[in-house]
Amino acid sequence: MNSGRCAACKYLRRRCPKDCIFSPYFPPTNPQRFSCVHRIFGASNVGKMLQQLPEHLREEAADTLYYEAQCRIENPVYGCVGIITQLHEQINDAERELARAQAQIAFHQHSPHPQPQQQVQVEVSESADITDSSWLEQNEFDSSALLSPLDSTWFF
Ligand SMILES: [Zn+2]
Repeated sequence: MNSGRCAACKYLRRRCPKDCIFSPYFPPTNPQRFSCVHRIFGASNVGKMLQQLPEHLREEAADTLYYEAQCRIENPVYGCVGIITQLHEQINDAERELARAQAQIAFHQHSPHPQPQQQVQVEVSESADITDSSWLEQNEFDSSALLSPLDSTWFF
């Protein structure tokens, strides 16, 4: 044991009892860990929180408190909620992309004419804007119009 006191008791300038609640989770080798947590939550709150938990959960709780305290110091407004929000946005983006890809697959699977020519068009459409599912229909319409260019001239 380094000097016999944990980081918390050293910081609070008190004797470290044998059954110190902080001692296993705030070693004297990492004084910054305790000062961080103390600054955000307060030593007595941290002590109470750890005491209320079964022993096997305390280490994880101490790690979590340290992480949350660090985030709060870095970002006083949002704390770790800022990171959570960013991750939620990433999940939403990924889900939107997945839904788009699934809609595209479903669209191609239910294409009415699975002929070789059609498949060429499908490959082309993948490189185009994937959100535009009307691309094929529009393209079919355009190409059929091109096949009978004389039709339109009858109107003039
Ligand atoms: Zn202690």
